Amino acid sequence: MRPKLVVGNWKMNGSREANAALLTGILAGLEGSAAACAVCVPSPYLFQCEQLLQGSKLAWGAQDVSTQPGGAFTGEVAASMLLDFHCRYVIVGHSERRAYHGESNALVARKAQAALDAGLTPIVCVGETLGEREAGETNAVVGAQLDAVLELLGKDAIAKIVVAYEPVWAIGTGKTATPAMAQEVHAQLRTQLRACNAVAAESIAILYGGSMKPDNAADLMAQADIDGGLIGGAALKAEDFLAIIRAAS
Ligand code: PEP
Repeated sequence: MRPKLVVGNWKMNGSREANAALLTGILAGLEGSAAACAVCVPSPYLFQCEQLLQGSKLAWGAQDVSTQPGGAFTGEVAASMLLDFHCRYVIVGHSERRAYHGESNALVARKAQAALDAGLTPIVCVGETLGEREAGETNAVVGAQLDAVLELLGKDAIAKIVVAYEPVWAIGTGKTATPAMAQEVHAQLRTQLRACNAVAAESIAILYGGSMKPDNAADLMAQADIDGGLIGGAALKAEDFLAIIRAAS
């Protein structure tokens, strides 16, 4: 059985004061939980995470990374900078980046490559819009999103990625894919990973994201190919995030 992983995506939320309360609350309740867990925070708060979380069971990471190693790229953050703050993870290709910043499959793949080159674990997000689902295009859309990454990274490197299936219509809406709907896509993603590297595919974590909450987390994570969660809204409340980590444990 693959170990479970629960990752919080704080998006553009937080303040030094609120973060301190949230992280302290999470740390206080982590004792005894078996699942691996992490928070992906706005980059200005990485130093705070490093200070508060080092030596704890809660890892940390960022929500985006530049394809470039450094130089004249105003506003960008290089993978080496994330590593400087001992990040373990970085989210790439979140649907909000794809939608609001025009990130293409090819760009997301290059971001995953930049993360891996620096020694970070990219959490590669894929997911279809409601229109795409209703048009019967889910498999084609998420398949193409993952393919771009697999093709660029190649057979050996894919062992080091995490995949997150996040149906766009379920993110922040309170609508969740049913466990069966999510499992169907996760199984397809696993098959696609197998075609690239059959051995690695068995150990790559495929997380579900999209309104995962304490009351639906256990059912979702009981599915054969759902290896944890990428959590938005519920990651901003220590009690809810801890309940999801417990459901994964
Ligand atoms: C996300 O943005 O990655 C996410 C899953 O958000 P929410 O849990 O709020 O739907």
